[in-house]
Amino acid sequence: MAQVIKYLWTFPTTLLGAPLVLIALLTGGRARVVQGVLEAWGGLLEVLLRRCVPIRGGASAMTIGHIVVGRSELVLRITRAHERVHVRQAERWGPFFVPAYFAASLIAKMRGGNAYFDNVFERQAYDSTRIAPPDL
Ligand SMILES: [Zn+2]
Repeated sequence: MAQVIKYLWTFPTTLLGAPLVLIALLTGGRARVVQGVLEAWGGLLEVLLRRCVPIRGGASAMTIGHIVVGRSELVLRITRAHERVHVRQAERWGPFFVPAYFAASLIAKMRGGNAYFDNVFERQAYDSTRIAPPDL
């Protein structure tokens, strides 16, 4: 698929991440484009990712379409391969990525698993980057 089509197809999802980039920039954080993805870090994002993401200990980074937000620039570098898998997933699923992600968490939970670690999108990201998920 041509890259411009991927950006357009993913745009509704990417738009959901735009307020987080704004929050970062307005609270002392930074943002830059890395390999066609807008990465933002720092400022209030550090607190939001640590406290507001329903995963034990919070999230280090999070992908929303072609936007990746992280606690710090170092965290973004460490998690880049994993988050790029989510970018590819978002490009594949387009506007259906967020509902599909939450549905996958619900299915994992209904099967008795963990909503995050047993989510098929996370399994694919951890498996393809050979990075072990953090211990619970
Ligand atoms: Zn992930």
